[in-house]
Amino acid sequence: MDPRLARVLAALPPRAVVTDPGELAPHLLDWRGHKRGVAHGLVRPASTEEVQALVIAAARDGVALVPQGGNTGLVGGSVPEPEPDRPTLLVSMTRMNRIRAVDPAGLSMVAEAGTVLTRVHEAAAAHGLAFPLSLGAKGSATIGGLCSTNAGGTQVLRHGPMRALVLGLEAVLPDGSRLDQLRPLRKDSTGYDIKQLLIGAEGTLGIITAAALKLVPAPRSRAVGWAALPSLEAALDLLARLRARVGERVESFEVMAGDGLELVVAHVPGARAPVAGRHAWHALVELADAEAGLDLERGLTEALAQAMGAGLVADATVAQSDAQAEAWWRLRETLPEAERREGPSLKNDVAVAVADVPAFDEAVRVALLGRFPGARPLVFGHLGDGNLHWNLRPPLGADPRAWLAAHGAEARRLLDDVVVRFRGTISAEHGLGTAKAAEFARVGDPGKQGAMRAIKAALDPLGIMNPGKLFPPEDGRVVARRVAG
Ligand SMILES: Cc1cc2nc3c(=O)[nH]c(=O)nc-3n(C[C@H](O)[C@H](O)[C@H](O)COP(=O)(O)OP(=O)(O)OC[C@H]3O[C@@H](n4cnc5c(N)ncnc54)[C@H](O)[C@@H]3O)c2cc1C
Repeated sequence: MDPRLARVLAALPPRAVVTDPGELAPHLLDWRGHKRGVAHGLVRPASTEEVQALVIAAARDGVALVPQGGNTGLVGGSVPEPEPDRPTLLVSMTRMNRIRAVDPAGLSMVAEAGTVLTRVHEAAAAHGLAFPLSLGAKGSATIGGLCSTNAGGTQVLRHGPMRALVLGLEAVLPDGSRLDQLRPLRKDSTGYDIKQLLIGAEGTLGIITAAALKLVPAPRSRAVGWAALPSLEAALDLLARLRARVGERVESFEVMAGDGLELVVAHVPGARAPVAGRHAWHALVELADAEAGLDLERGLTEALAQAMGAGLVADATVAQSDAQAEAWWRLRETLPEAERREGPSLKNDVAVAVADVPAFDEAVRVALLGRFPGARPLVFGHLGDGNLHWNLRPPLGADPRAWLAAHGAEARRLLDDVVVRFRGTISAEHGLGTAKAAEFARVGDPGKQGAMRAIKAALDPLGIMNPGKLFPPEDGRVVARRVAG
């Protein structure tokens, strides 16, 4: 064993060190099964003190550390890049999974980084509260990973992404010092907000060990509706009408193209379309309020009927039971899984200003289908956030892997050029990881990139934290060497 690695492992109690290579293997393959990483060992710290001992030793010996939560990230950020000159340790945070505190009066919860999202939901629900962030990977994604990718999901429209839901953070920085900002403060004007630097940093600025999360009163009145729509313009119009009618109670407004629904029905056992016939678009709408006994169903039914009268909605239905509402949510949440079962595709999570979504969608279709006739878009997402998963499947009959290897990079560049034209972002949810690092270097705001490089170099001069992510690998190493030397 490399002596640097041996010294770092010796800094941890033996139960935190996994020696069986069979246990390491699944951590090296990303969720989509596209990327296999390289690491020389796996550690599972159980406390902030153990993480601190690990990072101090790694900084001393120049060992690279790759933090990992549920390994559900979609941009290759959670699996290690090959490092030619130094050993790499995969740091699984899943043993740090305690809910340390729930404060019903202060509407907050402190959860360790490895706590799975559904566990956070359950712990909040036990106090009549809710943590208002949910996504398809909620059974595996962890608080540390969700913070590190600034995850969004289906309630951003009303409650914001992780950035808006984290009140405090505890982390170990790349030099081994402990960032102790865990108190759930609603206000703090003491200079830079360092916790916000770690949110969205994808493990490149330190290891998050716990977070203080913002909770809200659990919804006690709820209505879920499904609408078939002729266009994205009609979907935006429907959203505006709903907001005009019920204001902040619009909790979610998700859209999927008709072929997305067909894909779910084809691949997910038990999935059934809520409305008959083929439609260009579908919207899944949820209204919610903390007050019990409100008849939100009536408001939703009337709004959908009016929209039908105005020709915006082709067909619509409102869930008659929680079970039916959950079944419709499953249609939305299993769409990425259905897509995965069908085969590889080019995945994107771009965003533009909400009002620009229809024109943006049209411009992308023109750019991509003009260049790649027969390629099949699979578009769905969070319309109210201006965020579309504008994914592209290879033409029918093409070998998907060969097609993506030949054309994927060009297709992504064409798409990102349209994003730039609309002054949007190439990642609104998943992050840059390795999948989008080069594109961010190509099209990202140079001012922001310069500041990011300076921050990385200042906090992680040896480049030990999740190397090769956010910045293209050469870029990251050059920055680290320049500062270190
Ligand atoms: C089916 C499915 C649906 C999804 N839907 C959405 C969605 O609607 N919205 C959305 O935003 N995202 C979505 N995602 C992706 C989402 O980003 C991840 O699910 C989640 O945020 C990552 O959590 P994780 O614990 O799995 O992190 P991992 O995948 O393990 O890691 C992700 C990144 O965070 C870093 N990291 C992990 N833990 C820590 C830590 N403790 N400290 C520092 N860095 C750390 C890793 O190094 C990596 O860079 C979806 C993914 C799947 C598979």
